[in-house]
Amino acid sequence: MPSDSLQRFHFRDSPVRGELCQLTQSYREVLARHDYPLPVQVLLGQAMAAVALMASMLKLEGSLILQIQGDGPLSLLVAESNERGELRAIARYDHEAVIAGDEWTALTGQGQLVLTIDPDEGQRYQGIVPLEGGSLAAALGHYFQQSEQLPTEFFLFADSQAAGGLMLQVLPGHDDGDDPDLWPRSVNLAGTLRAEEVLALSIEEVLYRLYHEESIELFSAHPLAFKCTCSRARSENALRSIDMDELRAIVREQGGFIEVDCQFCHQRYRFDSVDVEQLAHDALTGTDSLQ
Ligand SMILES: [Zn+2]
Repeated sequence: MPSDSLQRFHFRDSPVRGELCQLTQSYREVLARHDYPLPVQVLLGQAMAAVALMASMLKLEGSLILQIQGDGPLSLLVAESNERGELRAIARYDHEAVIAGDEWTALTGQGQLVLTIDPDEGQRYQGIVPLEGGSLAAALGHYFQQSEQLPTEFFLFADSQAAGGLMLQVLPGHDDGDDPDLWPRSVNLAGTLRAEEVLALSIEEVLYRLYHEESIELFSAHPLAFKCTCSRARSENALRSIDMDELRAIVREQGGFIEVDCQFCHQRYRFDSVDVEQLAHDALTGTDSLQ
């Protein structure tokens, strides 16, 4: 069974590169925390594969967050990865409304796809496009086109056990000596990929099946893993956005504490009235308790 990893490759002597990733354990850890119906599982898996592929291109330390917001049975999906390949994901949906066999359009309805790059240091960048195309892969291809980034194509797969994806990208630096047909050819070949190949074969085997007639250089594998980035400090930040008097009222109502429940991993952070007064004090004195 494939392990959780990502591998880059490039077509020799050409400006086309690619990445393939496979997720089993990390995907199962996400599924184990909620009772998702299969159509939602599949989209979560595809979204996890997509953020793993995109985050590995980040040229900075930080997170890449994919959000799907729609008016269909699936109202929100969030998948996040950082440059170290640490992944988490969650979905909100109407249990009654999701029907077996539902796919992209039936699940999401009309809405938007939001990509956020959240560097550990520096400013956030966010891009938004309407949900278009018949799949998450198509919507992401559309995103790259709209934001005038490098031509990029995604091929995403998931079932109830594993997820995986392939990304192809044209880099700047095309010259007349290059094979002009390589990009459309590599995309067309990738279009023949089947889920059972990506989810069951090794990355080397998948690449061999697709591109054995091309000259490919494969780089070393990067591990991927489930890891939630929640923390007590982040929960404090969430509490700071609530009005202090309202916060005190909640603490009183709940018998002396407030709990922040991480929806990604179910970790609970408990704050008692002393903690809440400390937050109020920090707000007054401008102390930033973030480490
Ligand atoms: Zn968490």
